[in-house]
Amino acid sequence: MPACCMRVIITSFPLKKVLPVHISPNDHKQYRYLTLANELKVLLVHDADAPRSAAALSVQIGHFDDPDDRQGMAHFLEHMLFLGTEKYPRIGEFQTFINRSGGSNNAWTGTENTTFFFEVSPHAFEEGLDRFGQFFTAPLFNEEAVDKERQAVDSEYKLKLNDDVRRLYQVHKETINPSHPFTKFSVGDLTTLDDRNNTSIRDDLLHFYQTHYSANRMGLVLLGSQSLDKLEAYAHDFFSHINNTGLAKPDIPVPLVTEKEAKQFIQIEPIKDIRKLTLSFTMPSVDAYYQQKPLSYIAHMLGNEGTGSLMSVLKSRELINTLSAGGGVNGSNFREFTISLNLTLKGLEHTDDIVKSVFQYIALIQQQGMEEWRYEEKKSVLELAFRYQEKSRPLDTVSYLVMNLLHYAPDDVIYGDYMMAGYNEPLIRDLLAYLRPENMRLVLAAQGQHYDQTAQWYATPYSVTPFTDKQLADWTNITHDPEHLLSEKNPYLCERLTPHELAPESELPPQLIQDLPGFRLWYKQEHDFRVPKGVIYVAIDSPHAVNSPRNIVKTRLCVEMLLEAINEKAYPAEIAGMSYNLYAHQGGVTLQLSGFSEKQPLLMKLILECFASRTFDEKRFNNIKAQMLRNWRNAAEDKPISQLFNELTGLLQPNNPPYPVLIEALESIDVDELPVFVESMFAELHIDTFVYGNWLKEDTLQLAEILKDAFRVTDQLYGESQRPLVQLNKSGTLNYEINGKHADSAILMYYQSREISPRKIAVYTLANHLMSTTFFHELRTKQQLGYMVGTANLPLNRHPGLILYIQSPVAGPLLLSEAIDDFTNAFSLVLLELNEEQWQASKQGLIAQISEPDTNLRSRAQRFWVSIGNKDETFSQRKKVIEALKNLNRADMVRFIVEIVKPRTANRLVMHYQGQAHQNLESLDIGQPIESITEFQQNAR
Ligand SMILES: [Zn+2]
Repeated sequence: MPACCMRVIITSFPLKKVLPVHISPNDHKQYRYLTLANELKVLLVHDADAPRSAAALSVQIGHFDDPDDRQGMAHFLEHMLFLGTEKYPRIGEFQTFINRSGGSNNAWTGTENTTFFFEVSPHAFEEGLDRFGQFFTAPLFNEEAVDKERQAVDSEYKLKLNDDVRRLYQVHKETINPSHPFTKFSVGDLTTLDDRNNTSIRDDLLHFYQTHYSANRMGLVLLGSQSLDKLEAYAHDFFSHINNTGLAKPDIPVPLVTEKEAKQFIQIEPIKDIRKLTLSFTMPSVDAYYQQKPLSYIAHMLGNEGTGSLMSVLKSRELINTLSAGGGVNGSNFREFTISLNLTLKGLEHTDDIVKSVFQYIALIQQQGMEEWRYEEKKSVLELAFRYQEKSRPLDTVSYLVMNLLHYAPDDVIYGDYMMAGYNEPLIRDLLAYLRPENMRLVLAAQGQHYDQTAQWYATPYSVTPFTDKQLADWTNITHDPEHLLSEKNPYLCERLTPHELAPESELPPQLIQDLPGFRLWYKQEHDFRVPKGVIYVAIDSPHAVNSPRNIVKTRLCVEMLLEAINEKAYPAEIAGMSYNLYAHQGGVTLQLSGFSEKQPLLMKLILECFASRTFDEKRFNNIKAQMLRNWRNAAEDKPISQLFNELTGLLQPNNPPYPVLIEALESIDVDELPVFVESMFAELHIDTFVYGNWLKEDTLQLAEILKDAFRVTDQLYGESQRPLVQLNKSGTLNYEINGKHADSAILMYYQSREISPRKIAVYTLANHLMSTTFFHELRTKQQLGYMVGTANLPLNRHPGLILYIQSPVAGPLLLSEAIDDFTNAFSLVLLELNEEQWQASKQGLIAQISEPDTNLRSRAQRFWVSIGNKDETFSQRKKVIEALKNLNRADMVRFIVEIVKPRTANRLVMHYQGQAHQNLESLDIGQPIESITEFQQNAR
């Protein structure tokens, strides 16, 4: 056929079909759904206010598709696509571009999907898409990059060797149907990705890519302030060349679990001291019912936490600490439905009774719990959430929409997650019928059980035992448990859905509307997002709460006990779209409420009642104490780098002790000490409150009266608690070592600014921004020192801070510190080598990040609250930092690197961890060792 005819054919047929999309009345974005000629599904989102433009592409290929002898291939390919394409061959080019453009990017490989996403400043979007599009049309798989990157995959695997999530997941894989692709090893390592006699990994990689990466199995979402037409042009320009093989995604021909794998009790040894019991039921995929969400109904009933619920009853019998229902793995031909329980020590002895109780509750649902109003309650909550859906970050938006694009009908791409299209009792009953003993796998992860097998890849000890006839009989022939109750109608569901009229002063920043001794009230009616929601912060400062590690621990105990007391009563409020949190910090504790505002006063009253009736039940106390001890002791199994971060803040902030100090204090605390402690704490309070959102001033003042009553605030003279910080000043290099059982070594270098001026904040933030990509590229990509490599901007108690860190399976702290020193020594040269355009682009990228508008009411509330805490009472700090950034020139930054960061002159704190694999290496001996923490903290203020 002559070429001219081809052209005629193409232009005379539509290249795309455009379909409508159902959206929320509160959603002012515009959408366009279309399919390109190569069958690529595309969703375009125009958001006039989007601070950044974002793209996500997902392909229906995942580790299920790995060749049996090349496990980890899909994951490896995900890594490789970032590392050079025909038009942009240089390794690291994409990363540099993203960083320079004030953006971020990531990717993940799942069971049946691989997803890539990035966001950048709007002006850089087209350039970004040009690079991104190349991933799917012209990757190079450069030899050198292939070799380096499989090392990176290998260290990613090794990094997680002691991660219980992975270790338990591997047992899961080994105990289901061995011919199901779920059994494959998803990460990959040097043995699965090696070069072999007849094939190189690169050849196999190419083959895998060419076979599977096909446009008809992809979805693309583009979001930005660009017009829909512009976005559509981008989709055509950069993605219409993706090859279409026309091959559909293959079906999985075998079930996840057969007769053989059901009815089994699986015991697994975790590394951390956890006690988790999971009842797991396998059923066919329910994806087709996403409009009706029958499993949500079941999860809603089983996961209820109110009075008489399964969780409440098991808790009152001291068998469990938490319960959650409705989790489990999901795939194109299967769905697991799980009920997971965290057991107490007593619960560990009574697992069969717990299982029995679950089946009793399931029977109760079958007999009395099938009622349409329950479905309607859940539906009204979701409708409300949809109607007042708030924006999330562009990057988050595109990454969930791209999954919806591949799984939902075009009209439901936005609405699908929220829709409950109708109560279908027969369908719910059908699914509920899968929740029976003969279809169950019971998994117990707890230390010291019986094991006779070892899992591949992660060496997890485990065992598999069939249920006994007695167990099956006990769980099948059950009677009603009179303590079990179904939930009642929810009093917290909101009725008034339109936000209040705006008062004239609502445009102003937050105002201090009450300033009394010991009590300050900030208020702002929200004028921008116009949703019927509110956020309330109540910071309760008490010097007594934080003046010793022992009191700090008592404060945390009280917080946990209170949270537990509130939980059961406040559960319906959570269901109705409200949330609350209570947390301890360096000054005392803070209570936070968020969500729909109409019934917030009701929730506040409930919480204050719990405060007032504080009871310190000994059994509950012992249970909470045991849980806290266990969590803190488990932290010793955390990754070395996490441990270093924890010890760093513990060392520098005396009111924020590290785990070992907390553990020591907690061990000797008795329940009898708490009432006296709370009284002393209440005797010297300072309260700062911020009420924000759909709140009227008179209602706010009323709420303030309730708060003052509850906390007995009467002209007290207490100011806020001090929040001391150890200042490094002219310390030179300080050195602190921690020890542990991990194989990897880790190092962290911390630089602190004494001043807290906007200019210093600008310098430290920009230094981190400038260093991050080069640091990652040099130490991870080029030198392959480890998988966790980076820089961070860590302000502590308002003092700017800069951190460089590495966790390494291959090198000890000495070598790591030398590598970092080499980097910092050379970095001023890197700065000098940037051309003017690159320098300006970097700065602009950071400014764009900082000046990004708040996406929703919660994030704006959070920003105001941080300003209040930082004494930025004109709410202008951010503007000042941006001004300071604009004025920084390259010489300023070179001076900062040479004078402050360079090892020869630096005042810095070096934290390190010598891993078990590096015990024979020479240890790191630099600077002044910190031997006594108490002494070190004496110059804190
Ligand atoms: Zn990875």
